Amino acid sequence: MDDLLTRLVAATRTHPLPHPALKAIALAQWLLESGRATSALAREYLNFGGLKWRAEMAPFATGADHVAHDRRDGYCRFLSIAAFIAGYWAFLGRRPYAGWERFADDPAGFIRFIAPIYTPTAGYADRVLALLPEAERLLRQTDLGTIVLDPGHGGTANLPGSSANNAISASGVTEKALTLAFGLTLRDSLLDQARAAGERLTVLLTRDTDVNLAGEARAGLAGKAGGRAFLSLHFNGSGNQTVRGTETFWRAAENGNVNPAPDIAFAQAVQGGLIAGWRVIDPAARDRGAKPDTQSGPRALGVLNDRALGNVGRARPAVAALAEIEFITHPGVDRLIASGTAASANRATIAASLASAIRRQLDGV
Ligand SMILES: [Zn+2]
Repeated sequence: MDDLLTRLVAATRTHPLPHPALKAIALAQWLLESGRATSALAREYLNFGGLKWRAEMAPFATGADHVAHDRRDGYCRFLSIAAFIAGYWAFLGRRPYAGWERFADDPAGFIRFIAPIYTPTAGYADRVLALLPEAERLLRQTDLGTIVLDPGHGGTANLPGSSANNAISASGVTEKALTLAFGLTLRDSLLDQARAAGERLTVLLTRDTDVNLAGEARAGLAGKAGGRAFLSLHFNGSGNQTVRGTETFWRAAENGNVNPAPDIAFAQAVQGGLIAGWRVIDPAARDRGAKPDTQSGPRALGVLNDRALGNVGRARPAVAALAEIEFITHPGVDRLIASGTAASANRATIAASLASAIRRQLDGV
């Protein structure tokens, strides 16, 4: 969905109104007036209602000339989408519309009452009413919030909590290149699935080029973005080329986790999604499980630090996990996801399965 329309819907949903029964019919009218938030008035002035400038609108907007329907006219230029919504209701609070409050619980009666005052266009109320089901559906959409994906490593310099690269595949592919490729694929998969399901979802990447960021800077993005979930993506390596398997870590309680239970549930969902995807491409996939980061090595995983994630004192902390998607030092794994002709398609299969598991998890909590 277009970003401006998404923002209009979200603002409409959350805007406090004394008459919530009219939210959907008002949105339906704005969909019509703004061509679903594509009109120049919507894009340039945040004016989704085609509202003309009136002195009473001064708290919400400035007056601006705009050429519409071959006519130069003074329109409201709103300061924000919230200001537009408040301004729309203030606009109806003016004398010509006196009496609409009688229809506060009657969307059809409301639009039939205001339509002839709003515009001389015949059939206007019917056209708005035809868009009411769409407006109701938009307002009901599940909001999955923001997820931050963190492709591990990158660049050439080792930084605190993030080396430039760690594992190198049996055929010579770097872990940092694979984490980035997988992160981009996972982002696309999440967005495609959310769009198809009519869910709203924002996906951010800590990096989308070959650069390194310190561990805390990666985690910090989740806090700054008000993210609901943070997932660090890695591939494993071992001196023993027969070692393989998928594992996912959460921040252990003894490492200072402020929200261990939701983190464990998230890590298990991630692990489940990865394994289900792996099994599609490789019956020999090995499930090493979801586990606390006390089992990942001598030190806690910096990117899962709750203080760095901005989770300390936050009402709804982001859930966080670190996935080690497979051991790329295993020649079979290397062929499947790093160097073989089907590597990119196989990564997409795993990413689609993981995306679906993440969406289910975000929807359920
Ligand atoms: Zn790594």
